[in-house]
Amino acid sequence: MRIDLHTHSTASDGTFTPAQVVTAAAGAGLDVVALTDHDTTAGWAAAEAALPPGLTLVRGAELSCRWYTDGDSIGLHLLAYLFDHVSIQEVRGYAAGGTVGRPHLAHALIARGLVGTVSEAFGPRWLGQRYRLPKADIDVFHALALVRAAGGVPVFAHPRASVRGRIVPDSLIVDLAGAGLAGIEADHEDHSPQEREHVRALAKELDLLVTGSSDFHGSNKSVTLGAYTTDPRAYHRIVELARGVPTVTG
Ligand SMILES: [Zn+2]
Ligand SMILES: [Zn+2]
Repeated sequence: MRIDLHTHSTASDGTFTPAQVVTAAAGAGLDVVALTDHDTTAGWAAAEAALPPGLTLVRGAELSCRWYTDGDSIGLHLLAYLFDHVSIQEVRGYAAGGTVGRPHLAHALIARGLVGTVSEAFGPRWLGQRYRLPKADIDVFHALALVRAAGGVPVFAHPRASVRGRIVPDSLIVDLAGAGLAGIEADHEDHSPQEREHVRALAKELDLLVTGSSDFHGSNKSVTLGAYTTDPRAYHRIVELARGVPTVTG
């Protein structure tokens, strides 16, 4: 069984439509694929409608979260699997705040006659410096509670991916495990072999399940579907733990 539990479509920042993701997943020889667009479930219906025979779809999302600590904060991503639609509206409410980004502000600056063009707005005088907007990320403990309340299974995405920026300390992962985190992504292209081993050891210590996935983004990244996969036992555990929506098989 080949299982890839982390992919993006055009519903967020991937280049494949949700239908193309599931078609390509079957083409790549996967048995199970999770669609985990950033802060949205908008691709679920189209992916489900296009499911090739025999492929199982795990409906999910990747939530933009933040750990707030001592006047400082670090961004992190939480994968949420098989949650239902009711409680997640609250998460999406936060995410909608988060999607008000630099392009919106650029247009606001133009509308006020402060800059002439979007590229000027993105230049060092304005958005490059004065208006650097952090996304309105959701507090990670709040996100965990919401995912659990929605019957979902929360998994910490690429926790050691220091190539992307600052990473959280292991002590936070201990706290997250105590607050209901179910698993942790070890096999990911942004983790070195040593980092993967570190994550595995931590998961063992904290009794967290371990996942591996491509974090496929279509042609926005070079990684291919199924480049990293999840052990069937971990996948079955996720399905067992879920109380939100079921998996769907084409
Ligand atoms: Zn991510
Ligand atoms: Zn991702």
